[in-house]
Amino acid sequence: MGCFMKEVYGVIGGSEAYNLLRDGVFSLDRKFDVKTPFGDVRLFKVRKGNISIFFLSRHGEKRYSVIPSFVNYRANIYALKEVGVTRIFAWSGPGAMNLNLKIGEIVLPMDLIDETKRRDYTFFEKGGLGFIRSNPLFCEDLRSGVEEFFSKRGEKIRGNLVYVCTEGPRLETAAEIKKFKLFGGDLVGMTLSPEVFLARELEMCYCPICYITNYAEGVVKRDYSPSLLFGGMLEKNKFKLLRESVKSIVDAIFGAIEILNKRERICFCHRNMERYRLNGIIGEDWHTWF
Ligand SMILES: [Zn+2]
Repeated sequence: MGCFMKEVYGVIGGSEAYNLLRDGVFSLDRKFDVKTPFGDVRLFKVRKGNISIFFLSRHGEKRYSVIPSFVNYRANIYALKEVGVTRIFAWSGPGAMNLNLKIGEIVLPMDLIDETKRRDYTFFEKGGLGFIRSNPLFCEDLRSGVEEFFSKRGEKIRGNLVYVCTEGPRLETAAEIKKFKLFGGDLVGMTLSPEVFLARELEMCYCPICYITNYAEGVVKRDYSPSLLFGGMLEKNKFKLLRESVKSIVDAIFGAIEILNKRERICFCHRNMERYRLNGIIGEDWHTWF
């Protein structure tokens, strides 16, 4: 181990925390609530081997109680920053518009097209701050850690995909999916925006890892089954496969952290607001920024 700045890792995941604890993927040190100006947030401090991280269930503690359109993104990012997190891995299960992708496959988005309509996109509601460049959007340091984890296992994962973020809660129409494909989109989901933009405003690294849950509307033919999740777009026999994908993502995150802990940071995420700091517009304490 070198003597690099100690990074603190946070993970934003789906609502599988309890399953992952039950299955022994990681163990619980403690759970607690963090107060933020946007509401309270439940965090878990979890451990795997000698690596401990903060874990946040994006959709509430159990099951899928908060759907993506109503997630309190600002409270979540604020809470992670408040406990000292400097780098965030986030996982989500988008649909695939690209037929080369397989259900359960783990992939890394490279870029994002924001099609959301009514969310809180910034912490800087009162001032013209946060004029931050969005390319590269996702932390390249964290990405490379994940890629290295998989390549050490002899696996290569796709890392050049474009994620289209829709508002929901309804699923996309077939015509919308057609349009998004023309835009160059590969994945469609509802969670990464504004999460990534808010993390960048607070100078945190943010890297999503996705597992493909289904094919988007119109990409493959699926009968409409009102009694099933996603109206039958998610194949029933794939649930076990998807649970395995989530476990692999957690393994990959801890594996990537182990790799990243051994080398120096190369990304600029922690300097996103530097221009404002240098100009004396904001101070050292981020709490005073907005
Ligand atoms: Zn970074």
